[in-house]
Amino acid sequence: MTTGQFAFASNTNRFLACPPLSDQPFAIVGVPYDGVVTNRPGARFGPQAVRAASLMLCDGIHPVFDVSPLDHLGDALDMRLPNASPLPDVRRAIEAQAAALMAKHHCVFLGGDHSITLSLLRAAKSLYGSGEPLACVHFDAHCDTWSDHFGEPSGHGTWTYEALQEGLISAEHTVQIGIRSSGERAAREYVSDRGGQIFTARSLRGLDGSGLAPVFAAIRERIGHRPVYLTLDIDVLDPAFAPGTGTPEPGGLTSSQVLSCLEELAGLNWVGMDCVEVAPAYDHAELTGHAAATFVWTYLCAQVFRRQRQGV
Ligand code: MN
Ligand code: MN
Repeated sequence: MTTGQFAFASNTNRFLACPPLSDQPFAIVGVPYDGVVTNRPGARFGPQAVRAASLMLCDGIHPVFDVSPLDHLGDALDMRLPNASPLPDVRRAIEAQAAALMAKHHCVFLGGDHSITLSLLRAAKSLYGSGEPLACVHFDAHCDTWSDHFGEPSGHGTWTYEALQEGLISAEHTVQIGIRSSGERAAREYVSDRGGQIFTARSLRGLDGSGLAPVFAAIRERIGHRPVYLTLDIDVLDPAFAPGTGTPEPGGLTSSQVLSCLEELAGLNWVGMDCVEVAPAYDHAELTGHAAATFVWTYLCAQVFRRQRQGV
């Protein structure tokens, strides 16, 4: 260790205390919008909570991948958004900024409520889709396939339905993990009814380690080498692990289960990630921020490792 380097530095709120974004291959981008939630608001403060929690990760060297993202990562800080405008205007603003960043960097977006993912998928599909819908891995307690938001056209629980309708993602190559909330069957099983796969939280109870191997094999076989987008709603975790979120659903995944997924699926052809719905006002001991920061860090390390293996 160089003299003068210390473990903790609270004088920056960039992810992992990385530099400001310039020409690094990987970018952290905050999307502080929470205008269309069903229950408790507050996810607009998610990006800063996740960045603050990430400072605990110090040099960021990952024990599985033996790399740190720090030399490859810049923080773009938060998007400037027209928060009081109608959702379509907000979505256009998110898409334009995301497209500009994704054209130059492999991006990880920190939400924000889950409605932001539709804009991020619009940008990702035009950059990475080659005219074809993307594959999608979706961690969530909620299916987010409702066709309307309690009578309004869109909310944070409609983006998967909208993305499938728009052809941004392919149902056959969509995998949902952790689904467990209340809701009508047509929404709950919308993805599997169209050829996709759903691993409900109930079906994953008690599974960890080698018990999850068949899940990973099924996901790898289904997605293959297609460009795939990762969206991680932090409420996929049990509220014991992530109380700081707007619509908590008891009976969720453990942090270990999600980390196993991220580590074991590291070799997929990931094109981007978001981690959404962290609402720090409801958090305790920064549990939720730390969980989200650890998931984002794990994803970044896996991608740095993959690039180094491929010699790019
Ligand atoms: Mn969601
Ligand atoms: Mn959710």
